[in-house]
Amino acid sequence: MAELIRLEVVTPEKFVVSEDVEIVMAPGSLGQFGVLPDHTPFLTSLKIGSIHYRDAKSKPHVVFVSGGFAEVLPDRVTILAESAERRRDIDIDRARAALERAQKRLAADKADNINFERARIALYRAMERIKAFEAARN
Ligand code: ATP
Repeated sequence: MAELIRLEVVTPEKFVVSEDVEIVMAPGSLGQFGVLPDHTPFLTSLKIGSIHYRDAKSKPHVVFVSGGFAEVLPDRVTILAESAERRRDIDIDRARAALERAQKRLAADKADNINFERARIALYRAMERIKAFEAARN
């Protein structure tokens, strides 16, 4: 049997993933990174985006994360995210509504830097949720 690594994706609300996996790809702040067993330890912040992993049967999975931190150890990847959903748990209508709301705010609030920035990040979250939902089914 191939060597596996433990993947934990945790939010303040729940464990989203707790599984032995073959490989993990995650959206690091300095760029996308991949982790196989025996990886050198490191710590990084994460961007809004998708975690892709292959489970012990090589089946691909996608999990949306709204930023956070990843700790990589030789036998474990722990991801602490502000929010995260497996692809199948993404409410696509809610994400599309959030996208529309953010677009309207960006059009209306151009003079207000704080609201503009919040709307820009909300827009990015919604776009990345939609992208994760539209990734190959898992
Ligand atoms: P919204 O404006 O729709 O609340 P948001 O990007 O502001 O979206 P977050 O702050 O990232 O939402 O998340 C708040 C909580 O709602 C988290 O528990 C997150 O997992 C959940 N959540 C947000 N959007 C979705 C979605 N489209 N599908 C499933 N869960 C979602």
